[in-house]
Amino acid sequence: MDRAQMQQRLDELIWRVEEARIKRSEHHIVKIVAVSKYATLEQIRMLYDLGQRAFGENKVQMLQERVDALEDLPIEWHFIGRLQKNKINHLIRANPFLMQSLDSLELAEAMQARLEREGMTMECLMQVNSAREESKAGVDPDAAVETYQQIKERCPNIELRGVMTIGAHVDDEAVIRKSFETTYAIFDRLRSNGADICSMGMSGDFELAIECGSNMIRVGSLLFK
Ligand SMILES: *Cc1c(COP(=O)(O)O)cnc(C)c1O
Repeated sequence: MDRAQMQQRLDELIWRVEEARIKRSEHHIVKIVAVSKYATLEQIRMLYDLGQRAFGENKVQMLQERVDALEDLPIEWHFIGRLQKNKINHLIRANPFLMQSLDSLELAEAMQARLEREGMTMECLMQVNSAREESKAGVDPDAAVETYQQIKERCPNIELRGVMTIGAHVDDEAVIRKSFETTYAIFDRLRSNGADICSMGMSGDFELAIECGSNMIRVGSLLFK
């Protein structure tokens, strides 16, 4: 992919986001996180050069490698994947701008212990398993508000900013919409607790997610595949 193609893909994405957000409200601002798991380092540099600042990775090791390889650029890195407890130290070393996939109180408490030891804090989103899919990580929607509050109480080194979800993995749009609405309703209840980020929507469903209130989308294939 050359620079002109990359520019075209980014422009197209920005326009589609623009249309979707204005449908919701003129004041509704949506942040794009470019998911770089399919991208080469060269493509990341190209997209950065075109103005994109937030990038996401779903594997700790890849995140670490790319943080190191691109340390000359002030990229805002997001971690969006499943984190095994034995990889917490690696994540803390990579020190992402936002950890979006805090999927249980147990993981939060394990991270809290390491963060406290290192004298660090980390901004995180709590992942919600909005469609209650076996294959997916995340807190059950029914337990989400309570778990969020427990993390806030017990984990002072974790700065919770809101919620993240992956839309239902089905073809039926009504079912996907439901999973986004469920997550948005949880986010709305958590606003009085300081939540300000609702991360939902990927290449195939970001317009629907924005319609349902998402203010952060994570887009990979549309930019890099
Ligand atoms: C890969 C990934 C994305 C991006 O998915 P695309 O469909 O390629 O846009 C978003 N969120 C998470 C958690 C991912 O793992």
